Amino acid sequence: MQRLLATILFPTCALLALILPSLAQAVLPRSSSVPGGVAVIALGTTYAINEPPQAWLGEQQVFVTADGHRWYALVGLALDTPVGTHELRVTSGDETKILIFPVSAKPYPEQHITLKDTSKIRLSVADEQRANREVAAIQGLKRHWRRAQDTDPAFRLPAEGRLGGRFGVRRFFNGEARSPHSGLDIAVARGTPIKASASGKVLAVEDYFFNGKTVFVDHGNGLITLYCHLDRIDARPGDAVSKGQTLGLSGKTGRASGPHLHWSVVLNGAMVDPELFIAPVDRRR
Ligand SMILES: [Zn+2]
Repeated sequence: MQRLLATILFPTCALLALILPSLAQAVLPRSSSVPGGVAVIALGTTYAINEPPQAWLGEQQVFVTADGHRWYALVGLALDTPVGTHELRVTSGDETKILIFPVSAKPYPEQHITLKDTSKIRLSVADEQRANREVAAIQGLKRHWRRAQDTDPAFRLPAEGRLGGRFGVRRFFNGEARSPHSGLDIAVARGTPIKASASGKVLAVEDYFFNGKTVFVDHGNGLITLYCHLDRIDARPGDAVSKGQTLGLSGKTGRASGPHLHWSVVLNGAMVDPELFIAPVDRRR
């Protein structure tokens, strides 16, 4: 999909162009203004102002970055985002503007699974309480915001492998709707090194009921990646990691039918499609 070219907010100033250093070229995610996607919204030229504009979706700040000489807001859209028009609030200095952008429907595929042994999907009271506590903790981590100058949204795949379960698939167990798939599954043997998609800081290391051993990497400005079902974790909260650095080894901890990596991408608190952030050659796997 084409980038959304919204109103140019801040006009070009040729004089400032002579004195401001040019900003590094970022590789932006593909724009897909659908629930579970990322709306890439043009905000204007970097020549006009030396501080990035700031943008908010509701109360949640969103990532603003430069690509060449233009500012873009990268707006993560949760899977439950209503279809229709939405507002992005953008401020630059004393100026505040509202940008209207559309969100279109996306029919994600359905997956129906019949299980004879329902004990695997019916949780005990204790397990259900644990899972609910963990969902609340994960919600908190997803909203984490750290301002950074070097957020890199051009991700590498965390492991080489066949792409399995895609993001957003609507799953039904014995006809009962479950949460849609919140990440991308990569088929890898147990013990495969799992690498950071981009540089960042380890935000949390946890062992969850559903996701198993999980590492959260905070890339700054609300962009966070999760690596789940790991067999072993070789990172600690607060560690600085570089792109491609090994975080641990793959496995099938938590609720996983076999060894694989479940990789999730969070942007401004929303789980979004990881495939929007990887190169076309990786998407063809
Ligand atoms: Zn998965």
